[in-house]
Amino acid sequence: ATEDIKILLLENVNQTGREALTKQGYQVEALKSSLAEDQLIAKIRDVHVIGIRSKTKLNARILKEAKNLIAIGCFCIGTNQVDLQYAAQHGIAVFNSPFSNSRSVAELMVAEVITLARQLGDRSMEMHQGTWNKVSTGCWEVRGKTLGIVGYGHIGSQLSVLAEALGMSVIYYDTLNLMALGSAKQVGTLDTLLHQADFVTLHVPELPETKNMIGKAQFELMKKGSYLINASRGSVIDIPALIEASRSGKIAGAALDVYPSEPAGNGDFFNNELNSWAKDLRSLKNIILTPHIGGSTEEAQSAIGIEVSDSLIRYVNEGVTVGAVNLPEVTLRSVTTDEPDHIRVIFIHRNVPGVLKKVNEILSEHNVEKQMTDSRRDVAYLMADISNVSGRNLQELYDSLEALSCMVSEILL
Ligand code: NAD
Repeated sequence: ATEDIKILLLENVNQTGREALTKQGYQVEALKSSLAEDQLIAKIRDVHVIGIRSKTKLNARILKEAKNLIAIGCFCIGTNQVDLQYAAQHGIAVFNSPFSNSRSVAELMVAEVITLARQLGDRSMEMHQGTWNKVSTGCWEVRGKTLGIVGYGHIGSQLSVLAEALGMSVIYYDTLNLMALGSAKQVGTLDTLLHQADFVTLHVPELPETKNMIGKAQFELMKKGSYLINASRGSVIDIPALIEASRSGKIAGAALDVYPSEPAGNGDFFNNELNSWAKDLRSLKNIILTPHIGGSTEEAQSAIGIEVSDSLIRYVNEGVTVGAVNLPEVTLRSVTTDEPDHIRVIFIHRNVPGVLKKVNEILSEHNVEKQMTDSRRDVAYLMADISNVSGRNLQELYDSLEALSCMVSEILL
């Protein structure tokens, strides 16, 4: 029953998420901060669902203690703070919020394109230091300029629409062949894009292939006096090459929101020995430096709360894994559990031959109304709605499924 479900929310999860989960009747405990490892272990033993943001590390050591855990909600975009593979192998679904903040990032890009073109950052800094410096040399309108978008996913495609509204021509490069929005044009290679664009913005994921995707050779291909913006991940740009391109005047400006290593918290100094490049970046002209705020808006935070809690509720109430980042995405149309002899069976198992035969032998004593199975790597997920189940054979069904050696986890809703 919903009131038996215990949920622990850490790191001040947005109110929209807290409210949605509480409204379901679950027992929700919400804490403002993250927990030290021993406190986390003590608490996680007891809960069915945990909600975290980026600070809480859920590694195998901690998840091993989480005997009742069925789902993790990452109320953020990234999920690398969770051992996804371990979670999948133990039947724990992990959800995140893939696109709640895309619009916020895209809007920041528009602001930065204009800010760089007009050298606004430098003028404002000079005025703050008391210097009046009215210049028009090297300051441009963005109308008619070419914006080159690298990675035409959630953020890149939003930006495409906004940039066209400003009168920019948009080209994009993506490893997938994607439908162009508006009058944007896909180009076949990154080199072509770098060669043509006045502004280059990066929106690719952090992958081995995107590491140092923009380095010395790519800066050489860029137009003289062009601009580069990175709000994707810090690994995508080779920072020493950027510093060199800025000093030589090859690029007229850049905006960085993400860095190869980032300070742990607010107030930390952005300039330690590990980041010898931080000092160089701080000294350069027309370089906007922001502390990973691309998605940091009130709207994005409340949208994240809604998106992640929706996924958790659908999983807890109906076993639907749509949006899970570590399990196959499985759904069936509405649940019929409100009828007394109907139940939904969720059987998470190792992806080995012969499982379905055994499960279906067990289910065949009942009326299987609908069923779906899918697998992802070594874990498979079966969902079946069955009727003609009485209280007594419900227990039998549970015991027979649990006796299967391939089982990772099962739930009867
Ligand atoms: P997305 O997955 O929707 O889109 C990424 C696109 O990049 C996809 O279309 C994919 O095909 C493409 N791609 C992958 N590898 C590529 C390659 N080697 N070359 C060209 N294209 C490639 O992602 P998104 O939601 O648009 O996010 C983009 C980036 O922005 C991610 O790195 C994400 O972590 C980052 N992000 C940063 C902030 C911030 O606060 N600064 C906020 C949200 C997201």
